Amino acid sequence: MVVVTTTADVPKSLPLLFLGRDTDPHSERGVECPGALPPASDPNLVERARKAKAALGDKVFVLGHHYQRDEVIQFADVTGDSFKLARDAAARPDSPYIVFCGVHFMAESADILTNDDQTVILPDLAAGCSMADMARIQQVEAAWDALADAGIADVTVPVTYMNSSADIKAFCGRNGGVVCTSSNAEVALNWAFERGEKVLFLPDQHLGRNTAVLELGLSLDECVVYDPHKPHGGLTSEQLAAAKMILWRGHCSVHGRFTAASVDDVRARVPGVNVLVHPECRHEVVTKADLVGSTEYIINTLDAAGPGSSWAIGTELNLVQRLAKAHPDKNIVFLDKAVCYCSTMNRIDLPHLVWALENLVAGTAINTIKVDPETEKYAKVALDRMLSLPGKSLRD
Ligand code: SF4
Repeated sequence: MVVVTTTADVPKSLPLLFLGRDTDPHSERGVECPGALPPASDPNLVERARKAKAALGDKVFVLGHHYQRDEVIQFADVTGDSFKLARDAAARPDSPYIVFCGVHFMAESADILTNDDQTVILPDLAAGCSMADMARIQQVEAAWDALADAGIADVTVPVTYMNSSADIKAFCGRNGGVVCTSSNAEVALNWAFERGEKVLFLPDQHLGRNTAVLELGLSLDECVVYDPHKPHGGLTSEQLAAAKMILWRGHCSVHGRFTAASVDDVRARVPGVNVLVHPECRHEVVTKADLVGSTEYIINTLDAAGPGSSWAIGTELNLVQRLAKAHPDKNIVFLDKAVCYCSTMNRIDLPHLVWALENLVAGTAINTIKVDPETEKYAKVALDRMLSLPGKSLRD
């Protein structure tokens, strides 16, 4: 955990690293890799990765998130979304080293769900998630105080998306809440509304709003947005009292960039196209799309699609390009020409993977992710509540 002093009123303790901040001398620390990071121009990187992985054998288990680069994915033992990968890691108790090719909050979840004697490695510590960074524990605790001031904390259940830091998950565990994924957000919200009158949904306002309105049938007026940068979230006590869904003002820097105009444009460009988007997209994008679902749902839908069908996909570009390559009999395009890769996911590249693996061969585990025991205990409470939720929603 890095403590930085900002221009804000109090020092902020950041679970993740802000990139390129000159006020934070430790920023970019994962990029430096003192003395040993292979140059990206090294023509032997693929061979080096192969050799190191072979030398480690079953001692290492490499996880690759769907949004990772091809150069990294080729070395993954399993691929998946963040929750599937954490479960895959937990199912490999005999592998002492888990190399997580993904972002920081995913490696934290893997550490929480694996045994204490397993070591989780994130090849580049600067691979954070801008969405997860948008909800910091001090801000969430201040928001909870604001809900208490408004007299509604005891009827509010906190629900956090998997894409959040371990201390936000722990906050939910301590306060009767739960973790959800994009696959089971509907089930998690129903669970929460059986236990309270309101939900504080962290940190992705779009997943919260899309699920509440499209799956649970709430109205947009029943959703309010809590802005952590404004006193009392920028909301009056009356607005908080009237709301059912209190949405944290966070979003994904990739999915949040697709617009309703992107959907109109692709429909004009590609005749008969089916628009399929992730629920982290804005509400106006999701309502204009033909289908919405998690990355696993997107992959399964395209697997089942007929030859010759046309698809515009609104999710991270690495995955869309891989799906287009895997289905040459279908016309698969990216939803928007201007949206780019997830820059933090792309921090994990082949040089960092080689660096991590070769260090393991030499007996050194670099960039290890360890969640402190108290945070782990309560984060696990919230994760275990999710695991015991009945069934799954339709879009797994
Ligand atoms: S794609 Fe979005 S939610 Fe996923 S890691 Fe990148 S910024 Fe975070």
